[in-house]
Amino acid sequence: MIWTYVEQLKNHVGQRVELRGWVWNIRSSGKIHFLQFRDGTGFVQIVVEKSTAGEDTFKKASKLRMESSIRVTGVVKKDERSPSGVEVLADSIEIVHIPQEPYPISKKDHGIDFLMEYRHLWLRSRRQFHILKIRDAVLFAIREFYKNRNFVLVDTPIFTGSIGENAGNLFELDYFDYGKVYLAQTGQLYLEAACMALGKVYNLGPTFRAEKSKTRRHLIEFWMNEAEVAYYEHEDNLKLQEDLVSYIVNYVLKNASEHLEALDRDIEKLQKVSPPFERITYTEAVKLLERKGHNIKWGEDFGADEETAIASEFEKPVFVTHYPRKAKAFYMQPDPDNEEVVLCADLLAPEGYGEIIGGSQRIHDHDILVKRLEEFNLPRESYRWYLELRRWGSVPHSGFGLGIERTIAWICGLNHIREAIPFARTLYRIYP
Ligand code: ATP
Ligand code: MG
Repeated sequence: MIWTYVEQLKNHVGQRVELRGWVWNIRSSGKIHFLQFRDGTGFVQIVVEKSTAGEDTFKKASKLRMESSIRVTGVVKKDERSPSGVEVLADSIEIVHIPQEPYPISKKDHGIDFLMEYRHLWLRSRRQFHILKIRDAVLFAIREFYKNRNFVLVDTPIFTGSIGENAGNLFELDYFDYGKVYLAQTGQLYLEAACMALGKVYNLGPTFRAEKSKTRRHLIEFWMNEAEVAYYEHEDNLKLQEDLVSYIVNYVLKNASEHLEALDRDIEKLQKVSPPFERITYTEAVKLLERKGHNIKWGEDFGADEETAIASEFEKPVFVTHYPRKAKAFYMQPDPDNEEVVLCADLLAPEGYGEIIGGSQRIHDHDILVKRLEEFNLPRESYRWYLELRRWGSVPHSGFGLGIERTIAWICGLNHIREAIPFARTLYRIYP
């Protein structure tokens, strides 16, 4: 007997196969049981009829309850009405485990707190299955994109001594005799070192921010893909980003569209995502916001409302470029035409999903960088190695960080980022 998976059943129509998985629901009517079955690759209906399965198997099926695990054999039948295109007519069942208590996640509407408390079980439900399959596709697409372009994967450290983004958002730990170290908020500074060795580099891993913001788009632990390229200037950087984001969206459309459909995602909106993306400057964005009645002064950073208002003017993601120097990180290259702004861009996703990428050209001049560290009150000693990159063979270079969960939330059309990661770490939740 061949053990196969639900996703393969279409290739086995008319054959007898074995499936191993779980019963997530049961409907029965006298002489027939309908088992809603899943095996981690998909969902299918298994029909257990007294007449074909026999008395014994039928009795076994009567004992099943939600989240029983079984090995089952049966014949695969075409079934146009089912989403999988097939159903299985069972002839034998081997019970692996029957729960002794009712499954906590029943069909009735549970509140989000309840579901998050049971996240370890909630993962088994259909909606979460589809989201996690899309997450898998997004991460694969990212790796493939860089592989196609001969970028080198460089894994950056999680424990860091120097500070990347914002000293207020750091998680601090004791590190033996060394004293305080921090969990990485970004691997950028290390990628800057690596790009001077390997040219085109990227990373993909978790980052940590002790942000007390309780919004729909902030996690405490989130995944980021960062890229850094030697000799890239501002415009090269934007091109790389619009290519990457378009590649991810198209990969998902091509390889995971059934999951988008299962989530009722408006696919037409995603089909519009292709290069080039529009670019507007920060200053233009401020004017746009003023026209729309927002109370924003030049120099202030944008919040979620402003980002949504800007993005709603565009069908595709849009770059907001040239932010005020003082609103952004110390390492960003000043615009040669106007030193008050920097050569940076935030990429805002459509439909209110906010910033999915932050990036910039980096300062490559040693003395300008030293001046910036002073302006930002950052300890020069912690940045010794970072400054040394500017002492030998310094070249213009640029890079960015893409938030994985924000990208997934946008592609899936989720209204909260917590469903975009298997086990979310938020302000009030570290369990399970
Ligand atoms: P925001 O202003 O929205 O908090 P940021 O400017 O702090 O974001 P960056 O430091 O530029 O973000 O980080 C790069 C990307 O990482 C962001 O564009 C976003 O997609 C993602 N990101 C940043 N902070 C978080 C977070 N707390 N949770 C999830 N994703 C995040
Ligand atoms: Mg932030």
